[in-house]
Amino acid sequence: MSLVDSHPSERIEHRVPLEQLLRRLRPTVPETALLYAPEDTHPYECDGLSAYRRAPWLVVLPETVDQVQHVMRTCSALGVPVVVRGAGTGLSGGALPLDNGVLLSLAKFSRILDIDPLARTARVQPGVRNLAISQACHTHGLYYAPDPSSQIACSIGGNVAENAGGVHCLKYGLTVHNILQVKLITMTGEPMTLGSEALDTPGFDLLALITGSEGMLGVIVEITVRLLPLPERAQVVLAAFDDVVRAGEAVGRIISAGIIPAGLEMMDNPAIRAAEAFVHADYPVEAEAILLCEIDGTNEEVSEQIMAVRTLLDACGATEIRTARDEAERQRFWRGRKAAFPAIGRLSPDYYCMDGTIPRARLAEVLVGIRALSDEYGLAVANVFHAGDGNLHPLILYDANQPGELERTEELGGRILELCVAVGGTITGEHGVGIEKINQMCVQFTPAALAQFHAVKHAFDPAGLLNPGKAVPTLHRCAEFGAMHVHHNALPHPELERF
Ligand SMILES: Cc1cc2nc3c(=O)[nH]c(=O)nc-3n(C[C@H](O)[C@H](O)[C@H](O)COP(=O)(O)OP(=O)(O)OC[C@H]3O[C@@H](n4cnc5c(N)ncnc54)[C@H](O)[C@@H]3O)c2cc1C
Repeated sequence: MSLVDSHPSERIEHRVPLEQLLRRLRPTVPETALLYAPEDTHPYECDGLSAYRRAPWLVVLPETVDQVQHVMRTCSALGVPVVVRGAGTGLSGGALPLDNGVLLSLAKFSRILDIDPLARTARVQPGVRNLAISQACHTHGLYYAPDPSSQIACSIGGNVAENAGGVHCLKYGLTVHNILQVKLITMTGEPMTLGSEALDTPGFDLLALITGSEGMLGVIVEITVRLLPLPERAQVVLAAFDDVVRAGEAVGRIISAGIIPAGLEMMDNPAIRAAEAFVHADYPVEAEAILLCEIDGTNEEVSEQIMAVRTLLDACGATEIRTARDEAERQRFWRGRKAAFPAIGRLSPDYYCMDGTIPRARLAEVLVGIRALSDEYGLAVANVFHAGDGNLHPLILYDANQPGELERTEELGGRILELCVAVGGTITGEHGVGIEKINQMCVQFTPAALAQFHAVKHAFDPAGLLNPGKAVPTLHRCAEFGAMHVHHNALPHPELERF
């Protein structure tokens, strides 16, 4: 069974004809917001995980909260499943549509509602692009810290749903640490406000629960984000290494010295070469790995910590250390990193971006393990990642037109994730589970833990209509997956009945 096929235990069946659903939606949702002709729905067939595609049954583009509520109430009453979509840049297939469900796009919720420079907050609609928030706040000397590499395109609603991270999250935290309040609409159309504009709220921390919930618990319709003052100065050091292991060790040494860089990123040789050929960032193309270490803060802090970082990198065996001399050079160093994904996309017809997180101390060992797996499968892997967070992004290069190559890639990806779990890590850092890692959820969690996840889902969405078949596998799926993947004769979940 390919990941694009819903597992039978996860599929929601209904007998509602499309015409009937349209009739119920039309009084409230304008005709232009309803797309069902194949040529109109085509652009919504996939998200950033483009290896998996499915034609949506109906795409709805509401513009108001009332319209969202009407769609949810109608679908809930008819038993029609709903998948929410932000900008569709997700890399785990979270916004992959259903062939018998509604794809609810929040693209028209694109307004910044309020910026409060005194409270250092902004109230925004979910379709606002991540970068647009920082751009809008710049005149107040403020910015929104989480900066996914996709920030030019991805939506803040999608960021909340995926608990997105980015280069600056090592120092400033993930999305969950940078939002104060979320308004959402439940599957039955009820409005809920989670969190508050104050620092703490009474009751369970449902704001944290909804952050990273991958569109399975509710439709986010408004977010209050925290803003930070722009730092006085930011400077970046580029260090080259002739060995990925030494580069991995340098990451641990910097953090253990008590320095928290604003960003600490690593690229291996294939990624360095690809980025250099694409954007000419002046990277040392012979290096086996480079580290980009950014320090921000006051002038004095930056000067002092840059010196300390250079000394540590030198002690770790860096073959070359460069400090950006001005803002233009700093931007150039980052340009290569930010363009690394599209740069690698030029190397082969397709690539598959993985996302696992490991304890930092195991970085060097896991990189060696990935290289061994890459040799075993005969598929090249380029690594470009948030090293300071231990958040790996191995990019597997493949050609979907070669029979069997996608399947081999999926298997290699699965083995890499299982390696992350084996060293005490997790199968996702920031891209979510979606459909991509749903089988590995069976490896990461016990059936008891999965049952608790289902109970949480049931509390918000008892009929299971929101984003079915994503993020939390059924035990039926796990049982089948266990039967397929047996490593060294160790059966995952031996306590589960096989059927
Ligand atoms: C080149 C590239 C680089 C990337 N770099 C990073 C990175 O550095 N860090 C990182 O974290 N991610 C990164 N990503 C992944 C992706 O951009 C993020 O996961 C982002 O948060 C997705 O936002 P989106 O608006 O595109 O959401 P979508 O892809 O549209 O949706 C993602 C998930 O969120 C749900 N969702 C979306 N909007 C809502 C809503 N309003 N209410 C409820 N659920 C909703 C969807 O159902 C789906 O499950 C990258 C992607 C690309 C293509």
